Amino acid sequence: MAERTETLVLDGKKVAESFLVCLKSKISQLKETTGRSPKLVVVLVGEDPASQVYVRNKTKKAQELGLDSELLVLPTKTSQLELINKVQALSADQSITGILVQMPLPKHLDPDPVLLSIDPLKDVDGLHPFNLGMILTGKPCLVPCTPYGIMQLLKAYRIDPAGKRALVIGRSRLVGKPIAELLLNADATVTIAHSKTQNLQGLCREADILVAAAGQPEFIKADWIKAGAILIDVGINRNLEGKLVGDIDFAGCLGKAAAISPVPGGIGPLTVAHLMINTVKAFELQCFGESSITL
Ligand code: NAD
Repeated sequence: MAERTETLVLDGKKVAESFLVCLKSKISQLKETTGRSPKLVVVLVGEDPASQVYVRNKTKKAQELGLDSELLVLPTKTSQLELINKVQALSADQSITGILVQMPLPKHLDPDPVLLSIDPLKDVDGLHPFNLGMILTGKPCLVPCTPYGIMQLLKAYRIDPAGKRALVIGRSRLVGKPIAELLLNADATVTIAHSKTQNLQGLCREADILVAAAGQPEFIKADWIKAGAILIDVGINRNLEGKLVGDIDFAGCLGKAAAISPVPGGIGPLTVAHLMINTVKAFELQCFGESSITL
């Protein structure tokens, strides 16, 4: 019989809270030294219910920390040009230091020209091609919040990716591609899997670090994973009973994995926390040309 391992649950909520305590005092210091406050504008186009919840949570968290924040809601029928003009105007406004356009946009809108019209130094979601490209240099500027949060969670638990085999499941611009690059920058040997990948189970069995970002409820089972693996679950799904679950069978992997991030309470809170960190970083970059945040 296989030996049972004590699995460490990676408490993203606790780590995020500790970051936010430090960030709150940094924000009040910055207000004293500059006489200004970072200001985040979140742009929501349309009435998607999930997006409405996400944007409300983001602006609420910003306010709790003492940041200025504003939610700009535009009608679903907003045209491509109207949206680009709006985002360009926000980019040119000196009083606004962070801009986030909530994705997905309604189907008739192309996100790429919209992202391009954000000033890269105000791009707190890190999705402007400039910021995504900077990841390739190994000296990133504003890093997309979920991949940034994952790297900081590993760091908080002193998990060093160097020399480890990492498998990233998912190749989105939001999560899969940037986290693969960040793990590579941290000296892991990285494989990216996606919906057309053959023999996913075999790849999973070889992974020392597995990052699951496919959006498929609990499809990664305990018998797929390597004993002693580090499991990072990015997925947010509803299972058949309507319960919030990740991409990994959390209960099944306890006792086999060395560590696992839960859903909820894992990567989600870190994503919001790193949006706040990016908002402060963006402000510092605009005020001083560099950021004091060393996370
Ligand atoms: P996406 O739909 O853009 O990308 C999903 C990726 O997974 C694609 O590249 C696809 O090829 C791959 N994929 C799908 N099914 C697969 C399968 N069976 N095997 C292998 N690969 C498969 O999604 P996304 O925006 O990257 O988000 C992924 C998941 O992470 C979603 O559940 C989303 O809700 C969640 N998410 C969570 C956070 C957070 O803060 N925790 C942030 C962003 C996304």
